[in-house]
Amino acid sequence: MKPTPTLFTDTWAELGVDPAALPATGLAVHSPIDGTLLAHAPITTADAVDAANARAQAAFLRWREVPAPRRGELVRLLGEELRRHKAALGRLVSLEAGKIESEGLGEVQEMIDICDFAVGLSRQLHGLTIASERPEHRMMEQWHPLGAVAVITAFNFPVAVWAWNAALALVCGDPVLWKPSEKTPLTALAVQGLFERAARRFGPPAETDGLSQVLIGRADIGQRLAEDRRIALVSATGSTRMGRAVAPVVAARFGRLLLELGGNNAVIVAPSANLDLALRAIVFGAAGTAGQRCTTTRRLIVHESIQAALVERLTRAYASLPIGHPLAAGVLVGPLIDARSGAAMDAALAAARAEGGCILVGGEAVTVAGCEGGTYRRPALVEMPEQTPIVCEETFAPILYVLTYRDFAEAIALQNAVPQGLSSAVFTNDLREAEAFLGPSGSDCGIANVNLGTSGAEIGGAFGGEKDSGGGRESGSDAWKNYMRRATNTINRGLALPLAQGVRFDI
Ligand code: NAD
Repeated sequence: MKPTPTLFTDTWAELGVDPAALPATGLAVHSPIDGTLLAHAPITTADAVDAANARAQAAFLRWREVPAPRRGELVRLLGEELRRHKAALGRLVSLEAGKIESEGLGEVQEMIDICDFAVGLSRQLHGLTIASERPEHRMMEQWHPLGAVAVITAFNFPVAVWAWNAALALVCGDPVLWKPSEKTPLTALAVQGLFERAARRFGPPAETDGLSQVLIGRADIGQRLAEDRRIALVSATGSTRMGRAVAPVVAARFGRLLLELGGNNAVIVAPSANLDLALRAIVFGAAGTAGQRCTTTRRLIVHESIQAALVERLTRAYASLPIGHPLAAGVLVGPLIDARSGAAMDAALAAARAEGGCILVGGEAVTVAGCEGGTYRRPALVEMPEQTPIVCEETFAPILYVLTYRDFAEAIALQNAVPQGLSSAVFTNDLREAEAFLGPSGSDCGIANVNLGTSGAEIGGAFGGEKDSGGGRESGSDAWKNYMRRATNTINRGLALPLAQGVRFDI
C-alpha cells in the first residue's frame, strides 16, 4: 500500500481536476485513515456565497427554458464522467471518508445509478389531466422548475447525496449550490471537476454557467443559504441537531425544505427467521461503514427463544471482523471519521454500562500498523435490560444494542419507541408477522424491509424517514416533485363562463 499522501496525489491526478482547485492554505483536510494532511480546500467567503447565489439565479432563468430532455443530456454526460472515473473517485471517498474500497466504489455507483434514473425522468416529468365539473373545461397539472436548490451534505455519504439531489434538480430545471461537509470537501471539488468536464462536452460555457457550484466551509455557510429567500429549496442531510437549526430558519421565510436526518434503526428477529440471513444482514448493517450510515442497524430486537443462539453467533462474528486500512484487501471495518467520533463511542458505551448494559464484545480501540493517527474501534455488541435513554440516541459509531421481546406487538412497540424513524427491518418467515410489520400499525419508519437489513437502499425507491429523521424523501419514486412547483391550470374552450360549485354571479 502506498503512503496516504502519495495515494491522494495519484488519485487527484487520475481524476484530472485542475490542481489550482487546491490552494496552499484554507480548510485543512486530514484522512481518517491515519490522520495525515491530504490537502487544503479553499474556504468560500460570505461574499462569495452571495455571488454564487446570484450566479445561480441567473442560471435558473436560462435553464428553466431548456427542454427537460436536453437538460437530461447534461446529466447523461455527468454519468459518463462518473463511469470513467469510478475507481479514482471511489478511492478518494475512501481516503477522505474512510470507507472500505467496495463501499467507496458503491457510493460512486449510486451516483451513476441516479444519473441514469434522472435521464429517463427527464422525459417523464408529467402532470395529470383532471376531469372538470364545468362543461367545455379541462383541468390539468403542470410541473415547472422551482429555482435554486441548496444541498447541504454530511461527511458519511460525501458524494452520493449530492448526486441524489443534483441529478434530479438539474433535469427538473434547477441550479444547485452545494455545501459539502467541512470534513469532506475534496470529494466535492473532484465531483465539481467532473461536472465541469461534462458541461464542456454539453455545449458553450454560457449554457451551463452557475448550474453547479461548491461552497466550502462550516455551518455558517449552510446557515447563510438557509436564510436566503432566493433559495427555493434547502435539501439538508445530517444530524437531527442540524435539522433543528435549519428547519425554523427556512420555514420562517416559507422556503421549501427537504430534511434527511439521523436514524436509530432496528432489526427485529422473530423465531421463524432464517438466522443465517439475519446474521449477515445484522453484521453488515451494524458494523459496515464502521457504523457511520444513517441507516446503520443500531438496535437488535430478538425473540427470547432465539436470543442466546443469535447473540452467540454475532459475538463470534464481531470478534473476528477484519479491522484496518480501508483500502487493504479483506478489511471490512475502516476508521471512524475522527477522534471526536471515537470519544463519542466511548462515552456511549460508558453510559450504556451505567444504564445496566453489558458489553458482550468490542468497543475497544484497535491499533492498525501504519495508521496510528486514525481512530479505529472494534464494533460493539451490548446487551441492554431495556430501551434506556442511551439506546434512544443515535451515536454515530458501530454500537449494536441487543433487546429481547416476548410477543410480536411488543417488538413493534419497542422498534417505534425512539424519536427517529428512518429504517427498519424484520426477519421472519411468518407471513402474518411480515404483513403486520409493513401495515399501518407496524413500523413507523420511512423504510421497512422484510428479510433484509436496514442498510443499503437502492436509488429507485424514495429515501427518507419520519419523526426526528426529518420527513424528507429524495432519490427515486416521485421524489423529483420536491424540485418542481406544481401549477393547476383550467382551460375554457366554450363561450359560457359557468362557475364551480354552481355559484351564480350574473352581471
Ligand atoms: P452534521 O449535522 O454535523 O453536518 C451535516 C452538514 O450540515 C454539514 O455540511 C455541516 O456543515 C452542516 N451544518 C451543521 N450545522 C448546521 C447549521 N446549523 N446550519 C446549516 N448547516 C449546518 O452531520 P455529520 O456528522 O456530517 O453526518 C452524520 C449525521 O448525518 C448522522 O446523524 C446521520 O444519521 C446523518 N445522515 C442522514 C442521512 C439521511 O439520508 N437521513 C444521510 C447521511 C447522514
